[in-house]
Amino acid sequence: MPFADLGLSDELLRAVSEAGYDEPTPIQAQAIPSVLMMRDIVGVAQTGTGKTASFVLPMIDILAQGRSRARMPRSLILEPTRELAAQVAENFEKYGKYHKLSMALLIGGVSMGDQVKALERGVDVLIATPGRLMDLFGRGNILLTGCSMLVIDEADRMLDMGFIPDIEEICSKLPKQRQTLLFSATMPPPIKKLADKFLDNPKQVEVSRPASTSLNITQWLVPVASTGHAKRERLRELLGQEEVANAIIFCNRKTTVRELNKSLKQHGYRAGEIHGDMEQSARIAELDRFKRGDINILVASDVAARGLDIKGVSHVFNFDAPWHPDDYVHRIGRTGRAGATGTAYTLIASEDAENIQHIEKLTGQQIPRLTQAAPEREEPADRPPPRRERTTRARPADPRVQEAPRPRRPEARAAEAAPAPRAAERVRRDDPRGRPRRDHQADDGPDNGWNGPVPDFLSAKLTTP
Ligand code: AMP
Repeated sequence: MPFADLGLSDELLRAVSEAGYDEPTPIQAQAIPSVLMMRDIVGVAQTGTGKTASFVLPMIDILAQGRSRARMPRSLILEPTRELAAQVAENFEKYGKYHKLSMALLIGGVSMGDQVKALERGVDVLIATPGRLMDLFGRGNILLTGCSMLVIDEADRMLDMGFIPDIEEICSKLPKQRQTLLFSATMPPPIKKLADKFLDNPKQVEVSRPASTSLNITQWLVPVASTGHAKRERLRELLGQEEVANAIIFCNRKTTVRELNKSLKQHGYRAGEIHGDMEQSARIAELDRFKRGDINILVASDVAARGLDIKGVSHVFNFDAPWHPDDYVHRIGRTGRAGATGTAYTLIASEDAENIQHIEKLTGQQIPRLTQAAPEREEPADRPPPRRERTTRARPADPRVQEAPRPRRPEARAAEAAPAPRAAERVRRDDPRGRPRRDHQADDGPDNGWNGPVPDFLSAKLTTP
């Protein structure tokens, strides 16, 4: 189906064509006509499916009629993290370039004063994280009574982060006569309940967790003798083994992110880091460096795992097997996006065995092991060689590594693989090991960006056209 059949305006069709899209993705084809007809929508879709454009495009056309008023945003998009909110704002700018809509982004980053000023001028689209929005609402800077369109994005992530009470409160402040769109990768009971309570006869739109993504991603488990030095060395071997154009390397702990980034830089890699202890401005700067190619390795905690849309990531490495199996799916989903192929390696020491079991149970697939791993070197310490600049091929191939089997391409794996399960339906919300969820973190704990709702020390960032 061509974009032109969806009912979008010529201006939007032009912007979409300039974005390089030939035809709508399944979620766009299903959702856009209904959103334009002012229906409520429950969209079961994860990032990577084109879901952002499925609500941003029709919103732009709907909002093209009418004018904004001071302190009364006309529409509201709720995002669980600042990075996702910033990404949606980028989408608005990209698709809305032939429209004159004003937008404010309420996330941590700069002073509230600027935000208040923009709200005073009036905005058509407010993109916010729930914590920051509630803060400004509590101070009387926002009136939600003029907000006739609400998008709750990544609802299951909101649930994980403890934002559901905030969302319920926000919903109750909006006019009853409104259009509500809710998107979630999974539909656990609390999200279903939220949808039943706040949406009116919604159209259900579902695209399965992209089986295509898993087919596009070649996955490997890489056994290592132990954590620490052995893992870092094996990682460097893998980085040198193939054409690693750019890679995101995920670690479970912030301390590991910092240590690994330092170690990689000492070994001459163009690496950077992103985790929840960093100020918003530093995180954005680091992401930009990665997007521009100034660095080609980004060591990340799970703060970067969900939703970040960085084009053309060739490799994902799990330096640690994630504790939560759904994080595995999200992490490796950073590669193999939009039809491209990618490779995901997960380094596993003996203590990761249980995590892997849970991942394989969730995905319904056995991930092949790189069995002929190169023998661990008997170096006592992780001593760096002289500094040297890396380019595309991150490290010269180690002759021992040539003996390891080359990962097969996705087609070969697909033929062997069991049919991809509807993983989205199987995501467990509980922790298989009874570990604390990610909203209670110590420095060496798992990292999702901040410890609970948006902390006060983070100020707000604002954009207006
Ligand atoms: P999302 O699921 O919204 O995070 O989108 C994932 C990626 O798909 C983003 O890089 C979008 O720019 C891209 N995208 C969105 N719609 C299309 C389309 N119709 N054709 C090709 N790529 C698209």
